[in-house]
Amino acid sequence: MSEFKAFSLLESIIDRVSLKGYNQPTPIQKECIPALINGKDLLGIAQTGTGKTAAFSLPIINKFGRNKIDIKAKSTRSLILTPTRELASQIMQNIDDYSDGLGLKTKVVYGGVGRQPQVDAIALGLDVLVATPGRLLDLIETGDLNFEALEVFVLDEADTMLDMGFFNDVQSIISKLPKKRQTLLFSATMPAEIEILAQDILTEPTKVQIAAETVTIDLVNQSVYQLEKSNKLPLLFNILENADYEKVLIFCKTKYGADIIVKALEKESITAASLHSGKTQAVREEALQNFKDANLRVLVATDVAARGIDVDNITLVINYNLPEDPRNYIHRIGRTARAGKNGMAISFAVENDVRQLTNIETSIGQAIPVVTEQPFHKEFSKAPIQSKKKKPVKKTNRSRAKRK
Ligand code: AMP
Repeated sequence: MSEFKAFSLLESIIDRVSLKGYNQPTPIQKECIPALINGKDLLGIAQTGTGKTAAFSLPIINKFGRNKIDIKAKSTRSLILTPTRELASQIMQNIDDYSDGLGLKTKVVYGGVGRQPQVDAIALGLDVLVATPGRLLDLIETGDLNFEALEVFVLDEADTMLDMGFFNDVQSIISKLPKKRQTLLFSATMPAEIEILAQDILTEPTKVQIAAETVTIDLVNQSVYQLEKSNKLPLLFNILENADYEKVLIFCKTKYGADIIVKALEKESITAASLHSGKTQAVREEALQNFKDANLRVLVATDVAARGIDVDNITLVINYNLPEDPRNYIHRIGRTARAGKNGMAISFAVENDVRQLTNIETSIGQAIPVVTEQPFHKEFSKAPIQSKKKKPVKKTNRSRAKRK
């Protein structure tokens, strides 16, 4: 029997959740759902992959499903603000699945696609609006959206907003919201800026902290392949000869690099596409869908575009380039080993990467085994990891500005 029945959720929501195959709430859902149903503000320190989307969206759907009103034109009863278009689409998809049959009016808005359908949907008044900051501000400025009907505000992935330089936009949006509202803030980490924002916008919040990062890492079989830079593509082909790697997500540093890898793979008749911000939204969505549907074996992505993407059954994550920020390493390898399954992550490392590798190992508190039994192995020594877990390096707007 579904353990979701323990919450005071509408029957139809429990049925939809069961249809999705969820019988047991995840830890974040167990803590968030009752608090949110009681109208509390919430501070959730958790990343994508913990089940946080359902944790915040089920109570919102429940609230509006139980209490239908005539919504004011050009307004919305709830706003979910999230940093990337992919996350926005994913959240909207989940909400539409969970609320099927309740007759709620929902819409997702982001840039890079036509604005008029968004304006038309908002004009009717919405129960749920999911948005990225840029297009949202645009719609506010043109008077196509107001917050007269707003009851619930969710700020998702607050630390990513900061990393991506959206913080001013977020603050500007918050300044336009009515003071009386229920507010939820989710962030994977709590840098000082988010701490201050949380104090500012939350009233006596329930605090929920989920240590998903270590859990995820335990389920991932990680390894490092040391090599010369010029051998990266040959090594990639060598790895992909193993047909057991059915769904492979490759991370690389630049958009240009991603496109080069895709071209090289296609030449070898390996189906692949790239996912990065240089592509139109439609092309990105198509690539992601084809990868989800297993029409593509390989997706080559940059960190920003792949942030939080939720694709089932990724067999292998390859770090073609090591990420500068150890937190991105954790996010990347967390794309495999979803929903309690085991996964595999291979990182390519060239001699210049030694410092980055040591930072990553220090951050996750373990040495990543080096595979020497591979045709392109190159010997070079690594510095020992520091025994004390170091806090991941955080890039803030301020430090970025300083570098400029
Ligand atoms: P999220 O952190 O919201 O991105 O969710 C991560 C993944 O977990 C998504 O694929 C969800 O569909 C799935 N999920 C969410 N809640 C549950 C649950 N209670 N049981 C099983 N899977 C879940």
